[in-house]
Parts: sequence; C-alpha cells; structure tokens
Amino acid sequence: MTLNIFTSEVVNSLYIVSAVLFILTLGGLSNQESSTRGNIYGITAMAIAIVATFLGPRITNNYYLIILLIFFGGIIGLTLAKKVKMTDMPELVAILHSLVGLAAVLVGIVNYMNPTYNFSNTEMIIHNIEIYIGIFIGMVTFSGSVVAFGKLSGKISGNPLILPARHYLNLLMIVSIILLAYIFVSTDVVDTASNSLILMLVISFIFGIHLVASIGGADMPVVVSMLNSYSGWAASATGFMLSNDLLIVVGALVGSSGAILSYIMCKAMNRSFISVIAGGFGTESSKPSTNSSVQGDINSINTDEFKELILASKKIAIIPGYGMAVAQAQFVVNEIINILKNKKIDVIFVIHPVAGRMPGHMNVLLAEAQIPYDIVFEMDEVNDDFSNIDLSIVIGANDIVNPSALEDPNSPISGMPVIECWKGKNTVVLKRGMSTGYAGVENPLFYKENSLMLFGDAKESLTEVLSLNSN
Ligand code: NDP
Repeated sequence: MTLNIFTSEVVNSLYIVSAVLFILTLGGLSNQESSTRGNIYGITAMAIAIVATFLGPRITNNYYLIILLIFFGGIIGLTLAKKVKMTDMPELVAILHSLVGLAAVLVGIVNYMNPTYNFSNTEMIIHNIEIYIGIFIGMVTFSGSVVAFGKLSGKISGNPLILPARHYLNLLMIVSIILLAYIFVSTDVVDTASNSLILMLVISFIFGIHLVASIGGADMPVVVSMLNSYSGWAASATGFMLSNDLLIVVGALVGSSGAILSYIMCKAMNRSFISVIAGGFGTESSKPSTNSSVQGDINSINTDEFKELILASKKIAIIPGYGMAVAQAQFVVNEIINILKNKKIDVIFVIHPVAGRMPGHMNVLLAEAQIPYDIVFEMDEVNDDFSNIDLSIVIGANDIVNPSALEDPNSPISGMPVIECWKGKNTVVLKRGMSTGYAGVENPLFYKENSLMLFGDAKESLTEVLSLNSN
C-alpha cells in the first residue's frame, strides 16, 4: 500500500509555505508580544512539513512504523514539555540539541551504507562530502551538547577544563579531520573510506567534548547559543544528504539565527566571538575562578525593614536573575508591583542579556507572570540612570550585578558588562546565603555600604512583604 497522495510539485509548494511560516516564526519569536503568534506559525509549519513529507512520493512503505514513531516521539515530547520546570529548560534544550546532532550522524551513516545510491564520479564526491560534513557537525553537536547538558544541570563542574596545550590539541584534531576527509573522498577502497569515517567519528566526538568542556562559567551562554546554531547546521547537512530542500532551509535558519544570537551574547559579555567558539582561544576568560577575597561587612535586613525601604522609594528597579527562576518568585513580584503602582511608586525591570541559564530566560519568566512589557528595560537603557533610582531590588541575581567585572582585571568575568545598581541610592539583594553565582566569583556588591542583604528564598521573602501589606 502506498499513500502518495501529493505529487512532488504539491510537496514542494507545501514546503515553500512551510519555509515562509518558519521565517515568520523567527520574526514572531523575536518579541515577547508576538511570541505566541510566532509559536503558532512554527507549529503550523512543522505540521505542514510532516504531512507533506508523509503523503509525498518519497515515502513508499513503512507507514505503520512511521506513525508509531511519530506517536511515541510525540508522547515523549509532550510529557517532557509538560513536566519540565522552567529552571530545567536550558538542560532540556541542550539535550534536544544533542538529539539533532545524533540524527545527523545516523542519517549520514545510513546514507553512506545505502547500496541503492549509484552516483557517477563528481556526484559521488559531492555526496561523500555531504555525508562527511553532516556526520562531523552532527557528532560535534551531539557530544558538545551532552557536556553542555552536564554543565547546566550541575552534573559536571562548571569550571573550564584546561588541558596543557589545549589549543594545539584542538588544532591537531581539526587537521586530522581535514586529512581524513581527503582520504575518505579520494579513495576507491571501501575499507579505507570506512576506516577514515570511523576515525573521524571518534575524533569529532572528542573534539565536541573538549570544545565545550574547556569553556567555563560566564561564557556558557555563548556555548548554549552556539550549540543551537550547530544543531541548525547539522539539520541543514541532513537536508543535503536526504535532498530535502525544506530541511536545508530550516536548518540554515536555525544555524544562522543561532550564530547571530551567539554574536549578540558575545557582545553582551564583551567577549571575542572567535575566541569563545574556538574553546576560549586567546582569552583569559576561561581560566578557573580565582575567588579573590572580598572584604567588608554584610548589612542584612528583615522583611519589615525591606518593606519600609520600598515604601520610602519613588523609583524602584527590579533586577531578576537565575534565583528568581529557582524560587518561582515572578508571580509574587507581579502582585507587588501592582500594589506599588497604586501607591504611585515607579517600578521598572532591568534585564541583563545573560541573566538566568538560557537566552531570554528572564523575559520568559516575566511574560509568564504577565508583567507589562513597557516597564521592562535592557541593561544598557538603565545603566547610566541609576543615580535616579532610589532602590534596586536584586532578586536571585549574582554574576550580572558583580562590580568585579568592571573593577578587577583578574576576575574571570572581567570585561563583562553588568547592571551597575550600586550607583543607585540603595540596593537590597534577595538570596538564600552567601554562595557565589554561576561563574563562581565572589561578589563585592554584597559588601558595599549602600547594599543590604535580605536572606531567604526570594519567593518566601517577597510573600512576607505582601502579607505585611495586608496587615
Ligand atoms: P547567578 O547564577 O550568577 O546567581 C544566581 C543567584 O541566585 C545565586 O547566587 C543564588 O544564591 C541565588 N538563588 C538561587 N536560588 C534562590 C532562591 N530560591 N531564592 C533566592 N535566591 C536564590 O545568576 P545570574 O542570573 O546573576 O547570572 C547568570 C549566570 O549564568 C551568568 O554567569 C551567565 O553567564 C550564566 N549562564 C547564563 C546562560 C544564559 O544563556 N543566560 C547559560 C549558562 C550560564 P544563593 O544560593 O545564596 O541563594
């Protein structure tokens, strides 16, 4: 039985519709207000792509198997999406990237072993190059994403792995991969080609691990977006191997938008794009954190005093960080800002581009709590204006408000732009204890004269502030 309802012309037309919808998806996702619409475009585009492929002329058998796999894949995806906590989202994204890489590797191997391909000389070379590049990108994406998953979930230390001569090691691996590519493409001996492919698989596996393991702490955001980009290129390579135009286009969209995001993240952190993607080449940023001793006294306050400070302020800046996601404090924050609005206290949010554990993490949290977009500002829009702010409330943020990034040239986060809240009148930091942030660096902000610490879970502290209001 075949279900070839659509001719290849119809399939291609549907692929074009789908590609346009994917482009609209990216446009939609670039802004909080249009992100829901963007998601709907994406879902529709994917559904069209699956139906067009399934009912097109290229699938001629195994229908039950495909339906079964779509069914189980769908159930697993749905369960994961429903179960995953916002704080675990970055790990989920990383592990999903690894699956895209693995798929590219498997498609490449199957393509290589497929006996029905019968190409002439030049076609054969192009086909083999596609396979080689597809497997290489796929394997680097796979192993790199698994390490990123380990680092983001805390299963592997966030500190960079610094092997002696690590840059030469990377260079050696790249040169070997290029040499093996030459052998793979030029040889007529099947065993030699297969052996060079297997050797390349092993080297790319190690290369991916080393690339991500050697990047540490504060540079991880770039790695996350870089792997996002790699997964796009891996999908694109798969498209070439399968001669599927839509997969090529969509892969290129993900690949290039991920590369742009990596570039933006690098700019946000004042890092060289090339250095970070080359495993920290040429920068000192990847050295392990030195935890330079920070001195001074800590001034802690209780929720009563915190509330008094809030009520005495005219303009408040809220700076959310990863701890807000952990505490799930965003909903209480929304309730508090509604009360403050009624009291004519001006409240704004200041977002750092690498706050949290994934690009746009804070924007997602604020959107979830339905915080109005017009009071949410980028770091650069507010940094020069802190002298007009009476109170900065830092909710579970640490690295993104660390003055040592600007003041200590030996700090592992040196050069990274941060939210300069200490230039305002007062800062209250909500966190549970004195632990460091993701980069593992001590934070002198906590010891400044105009900084006050409110210790405890952010949600519990803010809920107490709310209940004080009702008394
Ligand atoms: P940090 O990880 O620097 O700090 C978070 C702070 O939140 C911790 O110091 C912790 O202190 C506190 N915290 C944790 N749980 C709670 C809670 N329940 N209540 C109150 N406080 C809590 O986060 P930032 O957002 O400031 O910075 C992000 C860091 O993550 C940067 O270094 C960035 O480079 C990195 N990163 C970012 C990615 C991205 O794409 N955005 C990806 C990967 C890494 P305590 O334990 O004392 O409470």
